[in-house]
Amino acid sequence: MNSDTGVLRTDFLVIGSGIAGLRAAIELGSAGKVIVLTKDRPDESNTEWAQGGIAVALSDEDEVSLHLEDTLRAGDGLGNPEAVKVLVEEGIKYISELIEWGTAFDREGTHLSFTKEAAHSRSRVLHAKGDSTGSEIIRVLLKKASANPNIVFKPHCFCLDLVVQDGSVWGAFFLDEQDKRVKKVLAQSTILTSGGAGQVYSETTNPDLATGDGLAMAHRAGALLSDVEFFQFHPTALFLSGAPRFLLTEAIRGEGGYLRNIDCSRFMRQYHEMGELAPRDIVSRSIVAELKKTSSNFVYLDLTHLEGNFIQSRFPRVYATCLNYNIDITVDMIPVHPAAHYLMGGIKTDLSGRTSLENLYAAGEVACTGVHGANRLASNSLLEGLVYGARAGLAAIADTHLAVPNEVASSNSSWSDHTQELHRINETKLAVQHLMWEKVGILRNGKELKEALRHLLHLSSHFMANTPDRSECELRNLMTVGELIIVSAMAREESRGAHYRSDYPCKDEQKFKNHSVISKSKHVDFIDIVSSKSTAETQKAT
Ligand SMILES: Cc1cc2nc3c(=O)[nH]c(=O)nc-3n(C[C@H](O)[C@H](O)[C@H](O)COP(=O)(O)OP(=O)(O)OC[C@H]3O[C@@H](n4cnc5c(N)ncnc54)[C@H](O)[C@@H]3O)c2cc1C
Repeated sequence: MNSDTGVLRTDFLVIGSGIAGLRAAIELGSAGKVIVLTKDRPDESNTEWAQGGIAVALSDEDEVSLHLEDTLRAGDGLGNPEAVKVLVEEGIKYISELIEWGTAFDREGTHLSFTKEAAHSRSRVLHAKGDSTGSEIIRVLLKKASANPNIVFKPHCFCLDLVVQDGSVWGAFFLDEQDKRVKKVLAQSTILTSGGAGQVYSETTNPDLATGDGLAMAHRAGALLSDVEFFQFHPTALFLSGAPRFLLTEAIRGEGGYLRNIDCSRFMRQYHEMGELAPRDIVSRSIVAELKKTSSNFVYLDLTHLEGNFIQSRFPRVYATCLNYNIDITVDMIPVHPAAHYLMGGIKTDLSGRTSLENLYAAGEVACTGVHGANRLASNSLLEGLVYGARAGLAAIADTHLAVPNEVASSNSSWSDHTQELHRINETKLAVQHLMWEKVGILRNGKELKEALRHLLHLSSHFMANTPDRSECELRNLMTVGELIIVSAMAREESRGAHYRSDYPCKDEQKFKNHSVISKSKHVDFIDIVSSKSTAETQKAT
């Protein structure tokens, strides 16, 4: 089916309207025409859901060098020091700008209020309206972007694929869900800011939109992806049957919340000296061990020893949400369980968001600058979206771009008519999500990873047709992302950060203190962090 019935042209195309996309668009809007495609409303994104806050070394007791050290320590040997330096240094400038633009971060009197979260050595997490930091930031960025007539938002426009020719990207094909037509937008630069892929797992804190579309599109276009085996599992998502896995922010433990097992005993000190504030991967694995020990399927998060008024004012969204499920968190303990939360890896970029494809930039959760290494420090991802969104915008402006070639402008794409029935799509999606959770989750091993790959490829074989249907396309994207995670996890025969292999429980510094890079042919190479050489090249040289 040839269904390209509309062609739009712009200087810059931004895909996604979370923190990274909006910040990139604001930069780009000063230099040319910008189209922002987003698959739902502009204010729907993972960013909108972010509760705990945004980390920045701005308090009197803090220093940029400490933020850098904490981030690298959490990254477990894989954080890229250059990328982290940019993050923590430029973070101060971009947060100050957010405040100037009207972001109402919480204050104590006239002073900004900072919280301490897990693995941070200082109180450095800014928050807004208690636990609604993301939506406050989105409010301000959307207002700023919407005030610029150069920036046009196209909501309910689902990107299907990138327009690619000979390794260069010239825009994207998208389904306009309002008139149900496939259209093409041509641009000299495309900035992918389409967020994460939590929906690849059955237990996730991510909203439905986090289906890894940008990762899959970039992979199909031939871009390199890096470190996708590192998926962070948040220790504390609400665990009630029939309820979504609502995130219970780390700040709750930062403010003194306890984890208790089913027998009401605190257990974290048995696993780590930092107790409830140990790094996320350790808390998640400790919970899994405790569940096994006590034959239960949840543990409790307990705030009942904290002052009731404080809880209500500090965590109003958590309080209200739990109350909807008849849990009054000032007097009741909350049943919790780990859930997939954040993808550390993504489309491989340099420090300005440039990918391995010409004219394609990526920023935010879809990208991998190496900032998070093998494990993300809490509240660093909003900061990454802000800093690297702006940097990707600046790079796209600064780079020289050719005009869109005529043959690209006149070419049509071809789409299949064979859309599968919705119930089959939904059933397969559930099967993929459960498979990934059971065999590619918090604890992994080679045998189960292989089984998962075989099963996933079998499921994918029924969905090969290139249909321009949103649900089917999201499912295909989830299956692609699942496969990339499995193949990379199989290749990394060690345990590091969020990637734990029970058949290789130790770190292997010699072979794997490197970033995995996966190509279009699904070959995984390991690249030295500093020199960018592959492991094979490094071993040859030594
Ligand atoms: C519940 C929750 C709480 C969190 N709390 C925190 C926190 O306190 N601090 C912190 O630092 N981080 C937190 N995170 C992580 C953080 O929110 C995300 O990593 C960050 O917001 C990602 O921003 P982004 O701009 O890269 O992507 P997103 O904010 O996810 O935006 C992606 C955008 O791309 C669009 N999109 C996706 N696919 C397509 C497509 N095919 N076509 C068109 N548009 C598309 C989406 O609609 C969306 O607009 C939290 C995450 C969750 C889920």
